[in-house]
Amino acid sequence: MCSVGGGDFNLEIEKIEVTRYRCNDCGNKFDGMGEKVVCPSCHSENVVKA
Ligand SMILES: [Zn+2]
Repeated sequence: MCSVGGGDFNLEIEKIEVTRYRCNDCGNKFDGMGEKVVCPSCHSENVVKA
């Protein structure tokens, strides 16, 4: 199976969806992934997509 191209790596990278978020509590802007996103600065769940 090593003879089948090398394009799979690019597909793996594209699967990761990073969304820009902003925290309503402290105003921190960060990149979030997944369904449950919390602010990395104050751990608040009160975040919105920026
Ligand atoms: Zn915050």
